[in-house]
Amino acid sequence: MLDKKIIIAIDGHSSCGKSTMAKQLAQKLGYIYIDSGAMYRVVTLVALRKGLIIKNKPNIPKVISELKNIKITFEWDEISGKNTTFLNGENVEEEIRQLEVSQNVSPISTIAKVRSEMVIQQRENGKNKGIVMDGRDIGTVVFPAAELKIFMTALPKIRAQRRFLELSEKGQTVEYDEILQNVESRDKIDSTRAVSPLKKADDALILDNSNLTRNEQLKWTVEKAEELISGK
Ligand code: C5P
Repeated sequence: MLDKKIIIAIDGHSSCGKSTMAKQLAQKLGYIYIDSGAMYRVVTLVALRKGLIIKNKPNIPKVISELKNIKITFEWDEISGKNTTFLNGENVEEEIRQLEVSQNVSPISTIAKVRSEMVIQQRENGKNKGIVMDGRDIGTVVFPAAELKIFMTALPKIRAQRRFLELSEKGQTVEYDEILQNVESRDKIDSTRAVSPLKKADDALILDNSNLTRNEQLKWTVEKAEELISGK
């Protein structure tokens, strides 16, 4: 009998390595990978390009009216584990990772209409299962019946340090304190917003990776997934 396909939801705080782990897991299982955070980042990028965010405050009606002009697609290369995000066919993968987008994405993702539009697309991607999706509300809102739910976290200082190294290695000039502030403020906004706040689903497994290597956490997660897939 063929192994059954499942939905794997990975939620958690910002910059704790959700995407890296979700990608590796999808690669290992031959599953599709969807980065739901990238979708909110694309909407934020459009709002910034059009001047619709002033001092961290989005012009909500204008952002909503832009949604119909935004088509988000991904190219997921299972072999290389590389994921590229496109806005109306334009490769925006690099641009959506910049600090200016990170600093404005949380207010954009509190807009209920933005969320409902993104959730429709996310569910569409998961309709055939065999998918790993990471985000903030995947196990609670997008796929509440996901077979495997993981809630990832790590200490804010460790997350900021990892992010600092990642951006510095890419040649971006960044300040550690500014990154720590961004990590803490995103945690706060994401966890306290009215619509789909970041919270652990009751049936999610907690993975605190403050003291784990990438390989250790991947091994743990692959084991959990394989147990479910093989039904043992
Ligand atoms: O995962 P990433 O850090 O790229 O997500 C960027 C932002 O998008 C988060 O800080 C959060 O505000 C928002 N987000 C969300 N719901 C998701 C994924 C991301 O609100 N499912």
